[in-house]
Amino acid sequence: MVIRSREELRRILEEERASLLKRLGREVIAEREYLGYGNHMADDATDVYEQVKDWTVRQTLENTLRDVEYALQRFEDGTYGICEDCHQEIDWARLEAKPYATLCIRCQQIREQRLT
Ligand SMILES: [Zn+2]
Repeated sequence: MVIRSREELRRILEEERASLLKRLGREVIAEREYLGYGNHMADDATDVYEQVKDWTVRQTLENTLRDVEYALQRFEDGTYGICEDCHQEIDWARLEAKPYATLCIRCQQIREQRLT
């Protein structure tokens, strides 16, 4: 897949967010939160567990969702595509592969080395 514009990346991120929210069963909850929980609380819990049962899978989805939302926020702020550590532009190839990357490859490697 070839991505040509930032707008396209943004659309991909928005689609990713929608699909993550769906898999996490968030849409259902968000809607009912708005209406108030009331007697539907038990139903909500069931709905959520029908979506994704495995806790680790859910955690991974939650983490990805957070990254995706953060990337979209950076679009709003006008900082999308800029490395958070060195403030240089992140390689286009890297954004294509991972649209929610917030670090350039070099800074990512430095951070990983620090962790190990
Ligand atoms: Zn960097």
